[in-house]
Amino acid sequence: MKKDIHPKYYQAKVHCACGNEFVTGSTEKAIKVEICSKCHPFFTGTQKIVDTAGRVERFRKKYAQQTTQDK
Ligand SMILES: [Zn+2]
Repeated sequence: MKKDIHPKYYQAKVHCACGNEFVTGSTEKAIKVEICSKCHPFFTGTQKIVDTAGRVERFRKKYAQQTTQDK
């Protein structure tokens, strides 16, 4: 019997940035993802998470400035 030909295969718990968790087979014990089938716009029909060309980053900076001014 040859050993270590295949990597160890775990039931990995996947944590998504949206808060969703699910279990999948993986060679990693735990996985963190930024998008999953629950929050991907292909499945949700919204554009809330996907960051194209830094739009989300710009929005966060703008929002941060506004909240600072409010204080
Ligand atoms: Zn998600």
